[in-house]
Amino acid sequence: MTTTGSADDEQHEDERPFWLTEPCPAWCDRLHHDWEPIEDRRHQSDLVGHVELSTMPADKVINGDNTFDHIPHCLELRMDQGYRENSPRLHLEEHLCRNGEFALTLNEAEQVATTLTRLITMGRTGQTNG
Ligand SMILES: [Zn+2]
Repeated sequence: MTTTGSADDEQHEDERPFWLTEPCPAWCDRLHHDWEPIEDRRHQSDLVGHVELSTMPADKVINGDNTFDHIPHCLELRMDQGYRENSPRLHLEEHLCRNGEFALTLNEAEQVATTLTRLITMGRTGQTNG
């Protein structure tokens, strides 16, 4: 058993759901249950990276009192792996889910690259990385 502090470290073998025959990867941050449908039987990391895309136009949001807020677009990075899959997948998601194209500064691209490198290492080694 590892001591990385993930939620599944607390989930002992006799408490694991019937469909989970091996311990979770160290990066998994979920507790699993017997009742989870097959499509939800996935190891999932917490949010590993959050990159604000400063050169993209902010999204205008109308508040209840008819004032406006401007919310910057952000790229979020996570990792998951189906319980029968042999390798994890990296997810890059625009948190407002309105754009499929991103404009990143060199510094933002460097943040994404650093986070991707970290996720790739975590995925290949099965260990957390900081
Ligand atoms: Zn897991």
